[in-house]
Amino acid sequence: MRFGNRLMQQAEDLSQFSQSEIGLTRTYLTAQHRQAGDYLLALMREAGMQADYDALGNVVGHYAGTDPDAPAIISGSHMDSVVNAGKYDGLFGVLSAIACVRDLHERGIKLAFPLEVVAFCDEEGVRFNVTMIGSAALSGHFDPAWLTRMDAEGISMSEALLAFGGDPAAWGPLRREVKRVACFIESHIEQGPVLLNEGYAVGVVTAIAGCTRVKISLAGLAGHAGTVPMPGRRDALAAAAEMTLAVERVGLERADRVVATVGKFEVAEGGAVNVIAGAVSFTIDLRSGDDAARHEALQTLRAALAEIAQRRGVTLDWQQFYALDAAPRDAGLQMQLAQAITHCGLEVRHLPSGAGHDAMQFAAATPTAMLFVRCGNGGISHNPLETMTADDAETATRVLLHFIEHFTLN
Ligand SMILES: [Zn+2]
Repeated sequence: MRFGNRLMQQAEDLSQFSQSEIGLTRTYLTAQHRQAGDYLLALMREAGMQADYDALGNVVGHYAGTDPDAPAIISGSHMDSVVNAGKYDGLFGVLSAIACVRDLHERGIKLAFPLEVVAFCDEEGVRFNVTMIGSAALSGHFDPAWLTRMDAEGISMSEALLAFGGDPAAWGPLRREVKRVACFIESHIEQGPVLLNEGYAVGVVTAIAGCTRVKISLAGLAGHAGTVPMPGRRDALAAAAEMTLAVERVGLERADRVVATVGKFEVAEGGAVNVIAGAVSFTIDLRSGDDAARHEALQTLRAALAEIAQRRGVTLDWQQFYALDAAPRDAGLQMQLAQAITHCGLEVRHLPSGAGHDAMQFAAATPTAMLFVRCGNGGISHNPLETMTADDAETATRVLLHFIEHFTLN
C-alpha cells in the first residue's frame, strides 16, 4: 500500500492533539492548533514543500512548478474540529494532499503548475462562532469585523491571534489573486452513508447543497386541559406536531433530492402538563443540491402548513431567516475527477454534499471540485465513532494524485 496505512497512522498521531481527554476537540488558536500545525508543517517540508504558518494560522505549503507564470492548484481542508469529533473530518483532505506532493517529490516530478497545500485554521467555527475563517481569507471573503469577536472566555480573535504569533492586521494579503489560482480541489470524508450503502469508495461531489431555514411561530388558544372539550380546541402544539410530520413527508416524497428537518421545537414558557399549548415555535431546515427542487419543496411545504393552520384554527407566522443557494462544482473539474476515478479502476458515483465545506468559499471565482471518501460505521461523523479504512484512504489519494498530475486548464 503506497498511502493508506501511513495516512491512517498520521490521522491517529494528530488525534492526540486534543483539548479534551476523551475524543478529539481542537479549536482555533489553541495550543492544540499549534501542535497539529507543527506536525503538518513537518510533513509538508518532508514532502518537498516550502511551508509555513500564515498570518491567521493556516499552514500553507508550496511545491513549485516548472512554469513560474502558471496559476496554482490549491488542495487542502481544515485542521480544526468540532467538540468531540472524529479523526478524519478535514484532516484527511490535508493529509491526502500532502501525500500526493510527497509522491511527486519522491519520483522527482515537477508539474507545470505550482501546487499549494493548505491546512485551514478554522472551518467549524467552534471558538468564535464564525465558520470557514481560513478559506474565507484565501478566497477574499474574510470580514475584519470577525477579529473583534469574543470566545467563551471573553478573549477576542485579535488577542488570540497575537498570542498565537499571528498578525490580525495582515489578513488582506492572504487573498489569492483569482488569476493565480487554476483550481481548488478538496478531498473530504463524506460524513454520510451514501457511498457506504451503495458500495463506492469515493464519489464526485456535484454541488454543495443550498439551504433554506424558516422559523415557524404558531398561536392557538391556551386553555385548561381538563375543562375545554376536544372539538374546537385551537391547540398550537398538536398543530405543530402535524406540521412537523408534514415537513418530514415533504422530504420523504423527494428523498432523492431534498432533506427536510425540524431541529428545534419550543412550547412557550416550556408548557405545562395541564395546559393546552397556546404558542409553539419550531424551525425548518431544508436542503438540496438542486435549487429548483428546494424552492418547489418550500412552496409545497408552505401550502401544507397553511392548510393545517387554517383547519386547526391557529395563526401561523412564517419567517425565513436564512437562505443560501447551492454551490455547483465546476463541470469540467467533475469530469477530470471522474476520469481519475475511472483510471483507478472504479465506477463513478456523483453525489451532492449536504454539509458546507471550505471549497464553498472558492466557488464564486475559482473552479472547485470535491472528492468524497466513504465514511464507515453507518456514515457517522462529527462523532468519535467516525471511521475510514486504509484501503479507502489509499484509493482516494490515488484518485487525487491522478487528478493533480493530469490536471488541465479548461
Ligand atoms: Zn469538515
